[in-house]
Amino acid sequence: MSSSTTKDVVPCQSSACPNGNPPSRLECPSCNKLGIRGSFFCGQECFKAGCRFKTHKIIHDLAKPGAKFSLLPEGVYNPFPSYSFTGSLHPWYPLSSKRDVPAHIPRPDYAVTGTPISEVQASGQPPKILTPEQQEKMRTVCRLSREVLDLAASHVRPGVTTDEIDEIVHNATIERGAYPSPLNYRGFPKSVCTSVNEVICHGIPDKRPLKEGDIVNIDVSLYYQGYHGDLNGTYPVGNIDEESAKLIRTTRECLDAAIKLCKPGALFRDLGKAIEPIAKANGCSVVRTYTGHGINELFHTAPNIPHYAKNKAVGSMKAGMAFSIEPMINLGNNWADVHWPDNWTATTVDGKRSAQFEETLLVTETGVEILTAGKAD
Ligand SMILES: [Zn+2]
Ligand SMILES: [Zn+2]
Repeated sequence: MSSSTTKDVVPCQSSACPNGNPPSRLECPSCNKLGIRGSFFCGQECFKAGCRFKTHKIIHDLAKPGAKFSLLPEGVYNPFPSYSFTGSLHPWYPLSSKRDVPAHIPRPDYAVTGTPISEVQASGQPPKILTPEQQEKMRTVCRLSREVLDLAASHVRPGVTTDEIDEIVHNATIERGAYPSPLNYRGFPKSVCTSVNEVICHGIPDKRPLKEGDIVNIDVSLYYQGYHGDLNGTYPVGNIDEESAKLIRTTRECLDAAIKLCKPGALFRDLGKAIEPIAKANGCSVVRTYTGHGINELFHTAPNIPHYAKNKAVGSMKAGMAFSIEPMINLGNNWADVHWPDNWTATTVDGKRSAQFEETLLVTETGVEILTAGKAD
């Protein structure tokens, strides 16, 4: 990290250097701390002058968390420069190339074309009741999915890119003989969804390094022996502000309250009734566009499970049904979402942060089994 290890000597960076910008070794400590290399000055005079002429201070402002513009590394670009982003986040392209899945790993029907044909064919059918053998396969894939999410989450820290998290998820998935369900699902380009700060869901892993103070949701889904498992969690990157920590706690609380209601005979439409009051009491709102879903041999199928109150979801729970609950909770009272031009990334419209937690559940004769539960749950 020390600048003295570099052999390159940088000319004085002050535009008003009276000494003709000689090779300089006095580095700006703030720049160094922010990870900006090359801020060298020939002396205290020029270091101060750099700040007085604002140019130097602008560099610091750009690198601060929440800056409206980012300094992008060489070769990295924003693919939608004219799109009006709702917060400070924007995509960092190019995306890495599509990751390979070894030929011996069985894949879902959409893996090649992107179209989930069997899901489309099953639309309109009632939720499936799984046999004991099928339930056992759900247990297995959900346990593997939890392992992969926990591994990915253990790598969350400032400086790690979401693309690196994608690589970790992809490799951990294929090591387990499973296919990463998001990969090419309706054309999704990556093996996991990573949703940072104001991104509600379906963020595409890219070259942006996570920053101290960010929050990131990692949504992992595996396909193994013909069945899908699906779960996600939202994690702090280093130290986060109290408002963000409260958002994360509230969102987990919303999911846990909904899970408590699950048992044979419970109505799907009642889950939102448990979730929304908790969100509201904590100054948050419930996203309406995205829902929980049935999951089995199909990634997304009946039932459809809204997370907001007074929804009109049909049906009741029966033993043998598997589905996800995955509330997305926004800070503030605006639950609406808007999409980036990549047609995947959903963000809040006011740029405020959003968090999510998801588990895959199985209704049992007496209650519910959290198939994706961690050891702590
Ligand atoms: Zn998910
Ligand atoms: Zn899901």
